[in-house]
Amino acid sequence: MDGGRRLLRHSMQIRHVDAGSCNGCEAEIAALLNPVYDAQRHGLDVVASPRHADVLTVSGPVSRQMAGALRRTYDAVGSPRVVVAVGDCAAGMCPFAGSYAAGTGVSGVVPVDRRIPGCPPSPAEILRHLRALMAGTESESADA
Ligand code: SF4
Repeated sequence: MDGGRRLLRHSMQIRHVDAGSCNGCEAEIAALLNPVYDAQRHGLDVVASPRHADVLTVSGPVSRQMAGALRRTYDAVGSPRVVVAVGDCAAGMCPFAGSYAAGTGVSGVVPVDRRIPGCPPSPAEILRHLRALMAGTESESADA
């Protein structure tokens, strides 16, 4: 996690990368900011630049086209930084596995601190994981 837990105690600035998803996960992530889930109420927000972020969320299996862009975005996020793989594709369990264009998930390109399973995970589940990260609780597996 790059020592970022204390950094996230009261706010979380998120830069999201679509690394070849079907957009199902994006729809659920976008819903975090609607009036129902209102993630900003919990101190979470999505920023336009990785330089303003402390958390990188990634969806999709990381297609060959997106691997380099993901790595460059990761490098642009200041340290300490946290990487969250959103959805089964990002976690390496992609329904498109075996396709010539599909990679093996986020951890094949950058270190992953937390995985949020589901195809897609619901906004409530995504929010639960992100809030657990902010609270410093380890309610699910991580591979880094
Ligand atoms: S996990 Fe499911 S919803 Fe998300 S990008 Fe993959 S196929 Fe689409």
